[in-house]
Amino acid sequence: MNRIALDELKQQIPLLEYLQAHDWQQAKPIGFGRLLGLCPLHADHKPSFLVDPHKNLFYCYGCRRGGDVIRFAELYHQVKFPQAVALLHQWRGLPPLLHEAAGYTAMLRRLLTCTNVASARRN
Ligand SMILES: [Zn+2]
Repeated sequence: MNRIALDELKQQIPLLEYLQAHDWQQAKPIGFGRLLGLCPLHADHKPSFLVDPHKNLFYCYGCRRGGDVIRFAELYHQVKFPQAVALLHQWRGLPPLLHEAAGYTAMLRRLLTCTNVASARRN
């Protein structure tokens, strides 16, 4: 997958929308359109997970991890980059990347609930 295709994928999958589909609740807006909430990546007790919907980036002050929607999928689902990309494709209802998704059927099945919720919300 080349750089341009990755950029397109990231544009098609807003980080905030992906987070909300995975039950992320924002605690409060903190200015400049940015949002703060509990971190889905570690056992967070006070909001330390910052999301910038305009830049499509996140950063956690607790576990000090951050990045884009693909990075989030990697960390959240504990998969490697190509699988994270394949998952996001699947979630968005885009044509599956068969060569990259191969071997991850079990994981995809486990995540199907999230996918169904996402499609239900879209329709
Ligand atoms: Zn965290």
